[in-house]
Formats: sequence, structure tokens, C-alpha cells
Amino acid sequence: MKKTIIIGGGLTGLSAAFYLEKEAKEKGLPLSIDLIESSPRLGGKIQTVSKDGYVIERGPDSFLERKASAPELMKDLGIEDQLVNNAVGRSYVLVKDELHSIPAGAVMGIPTQVAPFITSGLFSLPGKLRAAGDFVLPAGKAKGDQSLGMFFRRRLGNEVVENLIEPLLSGIYAGDIDKLSLMTTFPQFYQVEQEHRSLILGMKKTTPKNTQKHLPKRKKGIFQTLTSGLESIVPAFEEKLSLTSIHKGNKVQKLEKLEDGRYSVLLSDGASIQADTVILAVPHAAAASLMKDEQAFAYFKKMPSTSVATAALAFPKDAVKMDKEGTGFVISRNSDYTITACTWTHKKWPHTAPPDKAVLRAYVGKPGHEAIVDQSDDEIVKVVMEDLRKVMDISAEPEMAVVTRWKEAMPQYNVGHKQKIAEIKEEVKKKYPGLYLAGASYEGIGLPDCIDQGMQAVQDVLEFLGK
Ligand SMILES: Cc1cc2nc3c(=O)[nH]c(=O)nc-3n(C[C@H](O)[C@H](O)[C@H](O)COP(=O)(O)OP(=O)(O)OC[C@H]3O[C@@H](n4cnc5c(N)ncnc54)[C@H](O)[C@@H]3O)c2cc1C
Repeated sequence: MKKTIIIGGGLTGLSAAFYLEKEAKEKGLPLSIDLIESSPRLGGKIQTVSKDGYVIERGPDSFLERKASAPELMKDLGIEDQLVNNAVGRSYVLVKDELHSIPAGAVMGIPTQVAPFITSGLFSLPGKLRAAGDFVLPAGKAKGDQSLGMFFRRRLGNEVVENLIEPLLSGIYAGDIDKLSLMTTFPQFYQVEQEHRSLILGMKKTTPKNTQKHLPKRKKGIFQTLTSGLESIVPAFEEKLSLTSIHKGNKVQKLEKLEDGRYSVLLSDGASIQADTVILAVPHAAAASLMKDEQAFAYFKKMPSTSVATAALAFPKDAVKMDKEGTGFVISRNSDYTITACTWTHKKWPHTAPPDKAVLRAYVGKPGHEAIVDQSDDEIVKVVMEDLRKVMDISAEPEMAVVTRWKEAMPQYNVGHKQKIAEIKEEVKKKYPGLYLAGASYEGIGLPDCIDQGMQAVQDVLEFLGK
């Protein structure tokens, strides 16, 4: 009998446990699995509040459907009948107190159609002319990594970056576009430039036609969630995990390699467990503190994470008036706002609110502006309301507010990250055979990326044990 310990019961650790168990059952492998989670509940950043007809996500609200591992997992868990796509609607960028439609055909802010871009009020004429420079500028010479900001500013100019690309990308990573790594986040854009020189022409050639079409013509959105909330994956996992011993509310204090090559894990309840292999599915700072290897994990000590908070506010529907139809907006960092984005949740996900209610979900916290996250719930709601009222007519105070703080929750993939992670994984392979790192801190922050990393760790464990 071989033993694997999985540390961390977020989506990465749960996916690893699930797929390892599946392999063990299908192949009749003599394997026992322990999943250890410090908090009293599983799911990590996935948390849903379901009450009075509302389904409110405290953390992630959906995943990209085209990244197959997430819908596949829902199928494997037997909850695919709960999958629902977002309603299609316009998204906006707030620049200088005005909501501008994201130009049709823009892929992560890169234009693939010229007309909607030329007619957009998001950019000045000089800004548009500078962006057109992309058609003639040579491909960049930089071979190594560079920041997203540097890359896009060179191709499309500062205005397109500040008014469109920055708010869209910062919305995903809660990061600073001038520090985020191109090769870790969107290496495909680098490839497009190398192959086609012009980013606009290259994206036009390589983007499927339906993505280029005018948004409202599409029937369903590109994101999916579960009708009863993403947290419904937790009971689904727990029901399926029959071989795995799940330890909740038990923190791993120390992880060390023993002389015989196995691993020992010391838990906060004083127990210790030995295993042949370990999947470390915790954020990088936690991994560094468990391993006490100053050299191998030095990068994790300085790798930053941004603190953010979400505030979901519910109102009677007729108390919220907007002169634009759509599903939400992101905000340019040059605008004088504390919120960084807002989803009109009842529009994007109509099943999440009673029919006579409106739910607005705003985000606060960005690099250099994280103090707001430490404010009281009332203070956060007050600041969010002040900002929302600058763009919408809201005639009532929220009937319900769900504020959630996520301290140091968004790992920052700054320039050089991909290379660093590859080096660390190489060193870990040599120094700690049978130990694998997986999760949002390493090779993708999105939910499907976390599932993929959990699955990859399972393959690594099986290969190691097979040897
Ligand atoms: C506000 C917010 C919104 C987001 N929105 C989206 C979205 O819409 N779509 C999307 O795809 N992604 C989104 N993300 C990103 C996504 O939610 C995360 O990247 C993902 O959930 C991380 O999963 P994980 O398992 O790697 O880490 P986590 O969920 O952080 O899980 C790690 C687990 O390890 C546990 N742990 C830590 N230390 C120890 C220890 N010493 N011993 C035992 N257990 C330990 C923790 O308690 C935690 O449960 C969002 C993130 C946030 C914060």
C-alpha cells in the first residue's frame, strides 16, 4: 500500500484527490490518500452564500467554458445538469466617469475589427492613430519575458493600454500590467506577434469568427457556473471521495523529507502522517513556510499576492436604474474610483437573484491600493455605494450586503514567473522526489487551470509510484 498526502482542500487539492482516487479505483492500485485542509470547510476560495432566493459567490463566480477541464469535472462529479452559461450582454469600461462599450471584436482588448474600434468613444483620435501603428511596426526583438504593459504599449500605444487592456487584464489578475509577465499570462500574444508581426492582423486571422461577432448576437455567454452556486462542487466531491481520508480544520505545520525518502507531515492536532508522495496544493507563501527550505523556495518569500474584497449588494429592482443595458463594467486605473469592477449579477446570471431584485457585485483592492480591504464591512459598502452612484441611479440603500475579504489571495505572476516556477519545479524534482506543487500560485489562476494542475500532479504521482 502506498500513501499520498494532499495538502490543501481548495479546487486544486480536491481535483487531485478526485482524479487520483479515480485512477486508483479504475486500475486497482494499492493507494491510500489523505487530504488535509486547515479550515473547517473544503473549497478554498470557492464559497457561495445561498439564502432567500439569492445565490451569491464570495470568490470566483464562473469559469471559461472553452477550457475543457472544468465542464468535464462537473460531468465526472455528476452535477453537469447544474451547468449554466452567462446571459450575453454588453460589457463596459468606465473611463473618466463614463461607461464605454468594449468595442465589438476586441479580444482581451486587442481589436480584431477596425470599425467598432474607430467609432469607440474610449480613445482619442491620436490614441486610435497610435494603435494603427500596429499595422506597420516591426515585431519586437525581446526574446525573454517582458511585462504585459511593455508589450501592449509598444504595439498599440498607451491610451489603448490604459483605457481598455489594463482594466480587462487587471480584472483577471488583480495585478499591475506593467509588472505582470507576458510569457506566463498570455504567451499566445507573443507568438502572434512573432508569426504575424501585427497583433491586430494576427488576432484577426487566429480568432474564431464567432468570437469576433458582435456580442449580443451570440446566444449564450462564454462562462459557466452551477445553478446552486460553485460551492455545490464541495458536497459533490465529498460524496465521491470514498477512498480519501479527509482531515478538515487541521493545519499542516511542517512537511519534511525523511531519510528513507518518504515524507512526514506534522498536523496542528499533534498527529503526524507519513507518505510516499505529497501534492502541495496550498498558496506559495504557505508552501514556503511548510517546507523550511530557504534556498529552493526563496522566490515564494518575495512573490507578491494582492488582497481584494468583493461586495455583493442587493436592492429592489426598481431602485437601480441604469441607462445602459449590459452585464457589468471594469474601471480604468486612471479613474478616480476605489472599486475596480462591477458585475450586474442579476443580468449576467439571472438565476442568482429573485426576479424583483437587483444584485450588484463590486470588487475592491488592487496593487498599491489594498488598505480598503481591511476596512469594516460598513465602510467598504459605503465606499462601493459612493462609487456606484457616480455611474448609476440607485435610490435605495442595499437590503443585503455580503462582503468578503480575500487577503493576499491573488498571486502575482510578475515578469520572469514562468521561468522561476520551471526552475523551482526542477529543483524540487531533484531534492524532493515524489513531492509536487500545484495550484493558483504556479501555472494559472483560473479554476480550470487549478483543475489541470491537480490532474497533472496526479499523473506525476502515478509516474513516480510506478517507477
Ligand atoms: C475574489 C476572487 C474572484 C475570483 N474569480 C474567479 C473567477 O470568476 N473565475 C476563475 O476561474 N477564477 C477566479 N478566481 C481565482 C480562483 O478562485 C482561484 O485561483 C482558485 O480557487 C484557487 O484554488 P486553489 O485550490 O489553488 O487554492 P485555494 O482555493 O486557496 O485553496 C488552498 C487551500 O489550502 C488550504 N491551506 C493553506 N495552508 C494550509 C496548511 N498549512 N495546511 C492545510 N491546508 C492549508 C487553504 O485553507 C485553502 O483551502 C478568483 C479568486 C478570487 C480571490
